[in-house]
Amino acid sequence: MLPSGSDSQQRSLENPDKQTMRVDSTKRNDKLIEVPRKKLNMRLYTESEQKFQDYINSKIVTISIIALVGAYAILIFIIVALEELLDETEFINVSSILSWIELGILIIFILEIFVGLYAWGIKKYYKDKWLILDTLIILLSLFFVIFELADQKTSNVIKVIQAVFRFLRIFLLIRKAQTFRRLATISTISTPAEKIVRFLAELKEVLEDENMKLDINYCIDKIGNNQLYQMGKLDEDNAEAMAWLNQSQQGKTEVKKVLTNEQQQQQQQQQQKKVIANFQKLNIPKRLLDILIKQHDDLYIDPFECDKLCGGEGLVNLMLFFFENYNLFDVFLIKPKVVRGYFEEVMKGYLDNPYHNKVHAQDVAQTCNFLLSKCKFIEIGQLDEQDIACVLIAGAIHDYGHPGLTNAFLINSRNELALTYNDQSVLEMFHPSQCFKIAWGNQKVNIFENLQFQKYRRIRESIILMVLSTDMAHHASELAITNSRIAAPDFEPNGKDKQRLMDLIVHSSDVSNPTKSFEIYKQWTEKVLTEFWLQGDKERDLGLPISYLCNRYTTNMAEAQVGFIDYVVKPTFACVLGFLPAYEPFFQNMDKNKAKWQELIEYYKQQLASIQPK
Ligand SMILES: [Zn+2]
Repeated sequence: MLPSGSDSQQRSLENPDKQTMRVDSTKRNDKLIEVPRKKLNMRLYTESEQKFQDYINSKIVTISIIALVGAYAILIFIIVALEELLDETEFINVSSILSWIELGILIIFILEIFVGLYAWGIKKYYKDKWLILDTLIILLSLFFVIFELADQKTSNVIKVIQAVFRFLRIFLLIRKAQTFRRLATISTISTPAEKIVRFLAELKEVLEDENMKLDINYCIDKIGNNQLYQMGKLDEDNAEAMAWLNQSQQGKTEVKKVLTNEQQQQQQQQQQKKVIANFQKLNIPKRLLDILIKQHDDLYIDPFECDKLCGGEGLVNLMLFFFENYNLFDVFLIKPKVVRGYFEEVMKGYLDNPYHNKVHAQDVAQTCNFLLSKCKFIEIGQLDEQDIACVLIAGAIHDYGHPGLTNAFLINSRNELALTYNDQSVLEMFHPSQCFKIAWGNQKVNIFENLQFQKYRRIRESIILMVLSTDMAHHASELAITNSRIAAPDFEPNGKDKQRLMDLIVHSSDVSNPTKSFEIYKQWTEKVLTEFWLQGDKERDLGLPISYLCNRYTTNMAEAQVGFIDYVVKPTFACVLGFLPAYEPFFQNMDKNKAKWQELIEYYKQQLASIQPK
């Protein structure tokens, strides 16, 4: 489903600071020009051709054509009916008025064909051979209508032709009625930016030159982030960045279910009462429950503290809380003890890694909930309980069984997991696969057991997509596509774009440490680098190339985080802000945290100098 990445691509993207968006521009230009245009078999449209294409595909034109087809149907019906009801002289009297109307409609159909021919060119327009027949019938119909208007006395020969003509009109009507289909296909039409990004992502897959791939990454990033005409880096010009963000919000994010403050308070109070009344059956330790009731959608909740408060079972208790809070027991038709059992198994599957452990999973599920609830993705995406369940479960299971090693390491060391998943999103395939096996391997913990099959399939697909989206190898291209979808006129956060945004909710939560309080963030940073450095030690021992950020003797923790914020986390949350305006008050955290790391760069430099290998 997702485009596959090469080893080196995965390596560079898994080590976020090695994002290669800063590519020498002269080199980039030369290389791009070298791409043989013919081989790509792609016609480039002029700006005005594209404008006409957009115009024809616009909702208003489609609806107008449908209205016209409707009118044409009524007209044909009237003509046929009158022909039966009236005698010949009476019919001739009224038929000339009807013929004039028909002439008008046919001329509009002709105009539609001309605009289409201009916008797509003859070859592409007539790729659908039926359209050639349509054009012929319209031209013939036009000829007959004009003929009728000019000479109403009809010979026998003409009468026969007219009978054929009647048949043709009905045929034309059936063909035209297929315009209705356009209403359905219109939703799949993408913006030029999206098409370009998809094209570049595909192109990247067939290229072998690593430098060229990096160049294409650069292009995807710039197009996706609307930075084509921007000088310098995004963080150097916050005003411009904010202008872009505001622009992408204008009129795009449609909040359908807006509740008043009072209604919201009432709803919250009711929810709280219900949760308090039900908490005993969930056996959530009271101190944790008190925190969750007050802060379950808080960005600044302390995951380490929550985990401690329930004897290291933070993930299980958090998920039970969510199931109760969002009525998910009813969605899955399941008892709390099954849910507890399932997440206990999930929790046990998390290894005791410095970073990729059960607390990280708990933290990601928690952050997903913050985006769903406090940042109002539930309202904006019009998520139902099933969608909410998918997002939270995906957050909870997304790193299940993580070995504390990156995909690149697993591939380079010929690990069994890499062999099983053919080097493609190795861990991201492994995590959900194992979590579905847990459920189906033990009836007592199978939270999916009572779901109707089609519903189960949808839930399963959605969860798998979200976990796959956490593969950093696809970060740049997927983010670019999401950005272009947000900017598209037919963006539908509550419709066709919902799953893509749900993917982003989980992926952004996975890289959200820099958006938290510095105290929590710093703890996560130390943990993740400890894990990376353990991998680096292994790579050194095995004689493998040491992955970026994984060399404990050269990686400056503070510098690495500045890069991580600049090239991964900030663009990701800029995209989130594009469809969740309620995220705005939290957006500045990253800059504050970045400034703190910048102050620490010198300190870590000295630290590194003191621990150089002998
Ligand atoms: Zn993760």
